[in-house]
Amino acid sequence: MTLWSRIRNAALALAAGMAVALIAVSLMGTARAWTMPVATVAAAVLAGIVALRVRAENGTIDLSAAQAEIVGLPAVARAVFERLPDPLMLIDGAGRALFANRAMRGVIGIDPARKHISALLRTPSVLEAVRRTMAGGETASVEFTLPVPVERTYVAHVARAEGNPMLTILVLHDLTAMKRAEQMRADFVANASHELRTPLAALSGFIDTLKGHARDDAAAREEFLGIMAIEAERMRRLIDDLLSLTRIEQNEHVPPSGTTSLETILREAVATLTPLARAENVTLEMEAAKDLPPAIGERDELIQIFQNLIHNAIKYGRPGGHVWVSLAAGRATPGRGAETMLAVAVRDDGEGIPPAAVPRLTERFYRVDVQRSREKGGTGLGLAIVKHIVNRHQGRLAIESRAGEGSTFTVLLPAAPAAAVTEMS
Ligand code: ADP
Repeated sequence: MTLWSRIRNAALALAAGMAVALIAVSLMGTARAWTMPVATVAAAVLAGIVALRVRAENGTIDLSAAQAEIVGLPAVARAVFERLPDPLMLIDGAGRALFANRAMRGVIGIDPARKHISALLRTPSVLEAVRRTMAGGETASVEFTLPVPVERTYVAHVARAEGNPMLTILVLHDLTAMKRAEQMRADFVANASHELRTPLAALSGFIDTLKGHARDDAAAREEFLGIMAIEAERMRRLIDDLLSLTRIEQNEHVPPSGTTSLETILREAVATLTPLARAENVTLEMEAAKDLPPAIGERDELIQIFQNLIHNAIKYGRPGGHVWVSLAAGRATPGRGAETMLAVAVRDDGEGIPPAAVPRLTERFYRVDVQRSREKGGTGLGLAIVKHIVNRHQGRLAIESRAGEGSTFTVLLPAAPAAAVTEMS
């Protein structure tokens, strides 16, 4: 508030007070020597408070800022507190909010002005921590969760201001993202262990059988050794995929520097998977537009993307059906300037993917049909690997699917700029 507006407010309040006092005196019909000044001061205070409230309600003044002035918080400290990303509140000796910064007002959702802390935060553990700090002065930290509007977890730090026993500071620190990451890590370890335990249990079971009653049964031994080889292979694939995912994640923030021909890579991936397609009676076709520039990318990682996608199209497509692989110039992506994108689409004519499952396909270990994926030797990590490689290449993955008509997985990758193409050729 400027000096001028303070003077103006005071003058207005005083004038209002005097007017009220004069009216009161004339109504009473008596005037003692002290009546006039006392009535004026009382009315001025009243008018000042009313003015402050009215302006706060109109949004022209920040009541918490006004109150920060009352506790003598320097303007610069207030400005710093106001901008702090962590929610902060100053509480007086009676447990009332003296100041709440913007982040704190966002958390409590109501105007904290002079309200008791118990009306602002309803978490018993936090209120108890504030009460203990106010009473005994010791600092406290408590973790708590606010369920609405979106569940968030905070740790509340409560401390008394040094040199001012009547002032308590409450700071919240948002732990939501950290908790989510912790949960994801724990889920991942649990899922990976579960996936490894299944083939391991099968192997142990067959070892016991071969040591026991099947010891002298040559036919059973052959059959069991065959199953054991399949289970061991499943474990190997899972470990390979887990290591692949970890390696790609570690490199995800390092953009690839090389350039490579997508057509060559696609032809290689198609050649590798043609025997599998034949075995499944699936026709695998490829077409590539002419004269496309190379892509910016790492060859081995790009091969992994397209092998995963083509393999999935064969596995989950229509038995005896078709898989089409195409390479074309993609549309420029908004925000990327004039940079050209290259689009690789892998399309099948299988039964398609339910719409609710599409956004979850790139989650680790997510499968639409777990049994079917296992039967086909899937690990549930293929599309998670694809997503991470695409991210590293600053590309995009789009999945379109229609029930009964099949699915199309499209990868958009940035093309190498003309200078890089000349260097390469
Ligand atoms: P998986 O090892 O199980 O194949 P992915 O991560 O590669 O794991 O794929 C996840 C799931 O997405 C698969 O289990 C399958 O349910 C579904 N999916 C992937 N590609 C296709 C496709 N072309 N058609 C139908 N479903 C698919």
